[in-house]
Amino acid sequence: MTLKVGVIGVGMIGQDHIRRLTEVLSNVQVVAVSDIDNERAQSAAPNGAKVFDTPSELIRSELVDAVIICSWGPAHEEQLLECIAAKKPVFCEKPLVTTEAAALRVMEAEVSFGQRLVQVGFMRRFDADYRRLKAVIEGNSLGAPLMYRSVHRNPSVPEGLYISDMLLNDTLVHDADISRWLLDDEITDVEVRVPRQSSHNKNLRDPVLVLLHMSSGALVNVEISVNINYGYDIRGEMSCEKGVASLPNRPATVISDVHGIRQAIPEDWRERFIEAYDQEFREWIVAASQGGATGPSIWDGYAATLTGDAALRAVDSGSIEKISMCEKPKIYN
Ligand code: NAP
Repeated sequence: MTLKVGVIGVGMIGQDHIRRLTEVLSNVQVVAVSDIDNERAQSAAPNGAKVFDTPSELIRSELVDAVIICSWGPAHEEQLLECIAAKKPVFCEKPLVTTEAAALRVMEAEVSFGQRLVQVGFMRRFDADYRRLKAVIEGNSLGAPLMYRSVHRNPSVPEGLYISDMLLNDTLVHDADISRWLLDDEITDVEVRVPRQSSHNKNLRDPVLVLLHMSSGALVNVEISVNINYGYDIRGEMSCEKGVASLPNRPATVISDVHGIRQAIPEDWRERFIEAYDQEFREWIVAASQGGATGPSIWDGYAATLTGDAALRAVDSGSIEKISMCEKPKIYN
């Protein structure tokens, strides 16, 4: 069976997902696209795909079995609610939504529907290296996990479009989600420290150091730098009772020459996580073809939203900020 999908928002990641859905993956066909910019939608639409003037028309169309949302965060709530009302499986790029109230509204809609329809784009959970790290932790050969260090370094971010708050309410969501998933635990408190600032972009609060307190007592420290210049560098190291487990450096050809011995670093997230995005959609296509979703849920998107909010409060207060979650609905267990 071929899953017929409609893509809403065909900017940078929407176009990359259309490429993987049309050129890499099977059992799926992009039959519809929609974007605020109709010309962009026309040029991104694969052969034979229909361009809809509005996301609502795309969501309601009988051509479309399932929806992929790649518009910007503030548009996600309305589009998610329409997909749930239409009973269509939906893959939504992170962030799920941009406020706690919106997260609770989409959660309520899905819970009322009675089963999961929504998958959130936390692709790290589909990365082979992170999966091997999780398998080691769950295998328990190193004992209980005590501390996790997550390093998130971007070479640069678009000046003007990327503002200081985004380190904490946009970039941090990946580190928060992967920490919750690796530790199988919830974040209860958040602290933020702002060290000496990088001179690369003086308009940004960059870097930041975030401390996530987990309900087990484990601590996660997250270093976010978004103008590191040299490449896209993602690291993770779990300190356990009897040993340490780390993400490997990405395999790359080792070059030895007059400058020394070195390996290339991925240029950006597309290169570093290319296989994780493919696998994320492979698993989504199977689940959506059966009318559901798999992996990161609305609950996980909600947790990430609360973490970002608490981190922003912590910058202002300079104190430890608490996270208070609602009771977890059964469909997310
Ligand atoms: P982008 O290049 O700005 O693309 C977003 C596209 O959606 C643009 O064409 C935009 O049009 C369009 N759009 C905005 N609001 C819309 C609406 N209400 N209805 C229809 N189209 C709308 O952004 P992007 O980098 O692709 O990011 C898109 C989403 O993916 C964001 O939520 C982002 O956080 C997420 N993302 C996730 C990852 C990841 O690692 N998982 C990586 C990158 C991005 P205009 O440009 O005219 O506004």
